[in-house]
Amino acid sequence: MKVIVAKNAGFCFGVKRAIKIALDAAKDGEVYTLGALIHNPPMVEKMRKKGVIAVNNFKLLKNKKVIIPSHGISPLVLKKIKAEEIIDATCPFVKKARKEAIKLNALCDQLVIVGDKKHPEICGILPFLNSNVIVVENAAELPKKSFDYCGVMAQTTMSKEIFRQVVSKAAKHSKKLKVINTICDATRKRQSSTLKLLKNVDIMIVIGGHNSANTCRLLELCIKNKKCAYQIEDEKELKEQWFKECEKVGITAGASTPSWMIKKIKDKIRKIKN
Ligand code: SF4
Repeated sequence: MKVIVAKNAGFCFGVKRAIKIALDAAKDGEVYTLGALIHNPPMVEKMRKKGVIAVNNFKLLKNKKVIIPSHGISPLVLKKIKAEEIIDATCPFVKKARKEAIKLNALCDQLVIVGDKKHPEICGILPFLNSNVIVVENAAELPKKSFDYCGVMAQTTMSKEIFRQVVSKAAKHSKKLKVINTICDATRKRQSSTLKLLKNVDIMIVIGGHNSANTCRLLELCIKNKKCAYQIEDEKELKEQWFKECEKVGITAGASTPSWMIKKIKDKIRKIKN
């Protein structure tokens, strides 16, 4: 059985950067994050052992050294944290998307953000905007009304295809439209590599946290293209029966999946006999 890993898979620039910032800071004692630093439980556990601790309640961050994760944090939550020190590991692409949102919101009479309103990145953007903003997960969620001047942008980890569909529908309902594609380069490359690979294999294994937005987009991409695909976080989730009669297996991985996990899974699949 041949196992092929997508050309662009695993850690992106922003995740590598956030991990380095956190581990460097943890050399002088424990550092804390509100929620996970990155959306990958095996990696979060590994970092916990090195002094990067994730907590779920901001009250536990009082007088602690706090790292802001790669996809940011809501400024409203940030205000409540009485930390000893705040270390910002927000990805520059997330900050850029936030700036574009503020500009578009001031320029247009309706801003449409294609994304998940509960995702930390969007929670980090919304408090900076006036009320003329809607967050939609797909084109069907666009309101059935006309806009004079509509601006459209995306969460950095959005699917290129869904973004395209929203832009096309918004164009039909707007007299004037301004589109800023804020999907980051890493997300775009992972989606393109996945699309290319899935055409040449029998099955796709998508590796990444079940809570990782960009990993979930990769799984959706496989399924939309009618490819049998499974999302797993670690090698323990692999099932031998998936590979019956398979000759070629494709592997792709979200931007917060470490290379050691990709290797572990690749090695385990290779050991599975048909
Ligand atoms: S997926 Fe993109 S925006 Fe998110 S951390 Fe990685 S490089 Fe930055």
